[in-house]
Amino acid sequence: MLAELLLKWPLIRQIRDRADGTGAEAMSEATRNLRPKHDGAEVARSICPYCGVGCAQLVFHRNGRLIGIEGDPESPISRGHLCPKGADSFELVTNPTRITKVKYRAPFGHEWIDIDLDTAMDMVADRLWQSRERTFDQKFMHTTAVAHLGGATLDNEENYLIRKLFTAGLGMVCISNQARI
Ligand code: SF4
Repeated sequence: MLAELLLKWPLIRQIRDRADGTGAEAMSEATRNLRPKHDGAEVARSICPYCGVGCAQLVFHRNGRLIGIEGDPESPISRGHLCPKGADSFELVTNPTRITKVKYRAPFGHEWIDIDLDTAMDMVADRLWQSRERTFDQKFMHTTAVAHLGGATLDNEENYLIRKLFTAGLGMVCISNQARI
C-alpha cells in the first residue's frame, strides 16, 4: 500500500521515468488533460491596432465571443511576438471600463454629452460634405478647406483608398498619411 502510494508520488515517478527514458509519466493525469482556453476555437487573422510596426495577431473566438488574442507565429514581421501593448489587445476589447460613447459639446454649449458612435459618424460626414460644398473651387476642382491627417497604423492599402476617396472623390488636396516610420 505504502509502496503503491510512493510510486504515485511525482518525484519518484520523475526519477524513475528519467531513468528508463520515457519522461511522460512524470506528468499527472490532470495536467495531461489540461487544454488551452482557445482549444477548438475559431481563429481570425488580424493586425495589432496600436502602431505602424504591424505585428500580426491571431484572434480566437467561439460562439461569437472573443476568447483571446495572441501573436501570429507565421508573421514575417513579428514571428509570434507582441509587445506589452499588443499583448493587451484582449483587454482593450473586453475591459468593462472601455469607452464606447463619443463626447460631444455643441457649438456655444457648455456641457459635454454622450452620443453613440453611429450618430457621431453621421455628424462628421454631414459636416465634411457641407464644408466641401461650401468651399469647392470649380476652376481648380479642389477644396483646401478640409484636410486629412493619417495615423501610423494605416497600411498601404488603406492609404491608397484614402488617397482615392479624398482626392478623386472629394477634391481634397491637403492629405498626410503620416507614413514616416
Ligand atoms: S505589438 Fe507593439 S510593436 Fe507590434 S504593432 Fe502592436 S504596438 Fe506596435
